[in-house]
Amino acid sequence: MLYDLIILGGGAAGIFAAINAKLTHPTANVLLLEKNAVLLTKVRISGGGRCNVTHACFEPKQLIKNYPRGEKELLGPFHVFGPADTIKWFESKGVLFKTEADGRIFPQTDQSETIIQALLQEAHGLAVLIKLTEHIEILENHASYFTLRTKKEIYQTTNLLLATGSSRQGYQWAEQLGHTIQKPVPSLFTFNVPASSLKHLSGVSIHPVRLQILGTKLFQEGPILITHFGFSGPAILKLSAWGSKYLHEQNYQTRLMINWVALSKEETFVKLQEAKTHFPHKTLLQKNLFDLPKNLWKTFLEILGISYKKRLIEISLQQLKNLAQKLTGDRYQVEGKTTHKQEFVTCGGVTLKEVDFKTMQSKICPRLFFAGEILDIDGITGGFNFQNAWTTGYIAGKSSL
Ligand SMILES: Cc1cc2nc3c(=O)[nH]c(=O)nc-3n(C[C@H](O)[C@H](O)[C@H](O)COP(=O)(O)OP(=O)(O)OC[C@H]3O[C@@H](n4cnc5c(N)ncnc54)[C@H](O)[C@@H]3O)c2cc1C
Repeated sequence: MLYDLIILGGGAAGIFAAINAKLTHPTANVLLLEKNAVLLTKVRISGGGRCNVTHACFEPKQLIKNYPRGEKELLGPFHVFGPADTIKWFESKGVLFKTEADGRIFPQTDQSETIIQALLQEAHGLAVLIKLTEHIEILENHASYFTLRTKKEIYQTTNLLLATGSSRQGYQWAEQLGHTIQKPVPSLFTFNVPASSLKHLSGVSIHPVRLQILGTKLFQEGPILITHFGFSGPAILKLSAWGSKYLHEQNYQTRLMINWVALSKEETFVKLQEAKTHFPHKTLLQKNLFDLPKNLWKTFLEILGISYKKRLIEISLQQLKNLAQKLTGDRYQVEGKTTHKQEFVTCGGVTLKEVDFKTMQSKICPRLFFAGEILDIDGITGGFNFQNAWTTGYIAGKSSL
């Protein structure tokens, strides 16, 4: 039998593509093949089991800024199917959402199962054929159809959609069909700083700080979290996303500079001097100039050999200079990375210029389509990676028949 469309991969992108293919062409034969025994594995474990479905960012020009790779290419697709469409789609299946203060959107149930059930019920209702534990061993491209062979079965299909996420085999097939693969490397991780003098402050978060990878233009501003192994928090995760390739090349050994007060060294020194002039009999802790946690102040003062009990009048200008330097140019040796709450995403994949983002069809191999993380697209944490899966899955599903 010749299928109209075979989708490889039963993750968010593959399932959403299958649903949209059937919605657009109800009589088409759509078959989804998944190598595992269960569908939507990552949806289940996502967001700590709550599934951060998307982000409350409804302006495509703003939304694309959250994608270190894929920014330019996703602008058009987000006009076609963006976060508002995702919410509307799931709401039409009875899912209610809540938006957290930082913009992340979760099902009101706080259960990823709610999302899984909505997707699977729809797929079953539309009679999408699904086969689990299917291991394709050989993939062949003929003039007008593809053949996929497992140990026992031979499948033939006019159109093929690869939605295999960051699996190596998916990349290999894309390569076999003529695509180039941008080297897959991890994104979204926290920094290990074994020699950090701040580990005893684990759990303390500071906002906003400025971060820079020394010797590069990699720079971020936002909240940082001190951990028992180094640094985490939104600004670190963003830095890891934009710096994923560079940091991989450096084997995650690099120099991180933290500006704890998000001011220039000169501005900081002036503020310290002014405090000394106006409040000579107060201590630096009493006059918490930069709104830093007291324990962090104490640690900095200890490192610089300044007693925190000293009044400002007793602190020399040179000591204030040293303090301004510490607050604005604090340096740490990063040695390795740690996964953030098990969440990670792969940077790299199918080269974007080889794909037509109006249809998600390959520009190299006709009747071949892509959706989701197999593409060289990744977002920062916050629901952006699933939004990529919904958007590209929607477009691929609608166009691939
Ligand atoms: C722990 C964790 C938590 C996360 N939380 C969030 C979150 O809350 N919000 C968010 O936006 N993003 C989150 N992400 C990222 C998000 O899960 C992914 O970006 C998203 O799942 C990508 O969807 P996909 O369908 O492209 O790929 P996947 O979800 O990886 O699905 C690919 C599917 O293809 C199958 N497959 C692979 N190879 C083959 C093959 N050879 N034959 C057949 N099938 C194959 C796989 O088994 C899998 O089922 C999280 C990631 C992790 C690891």
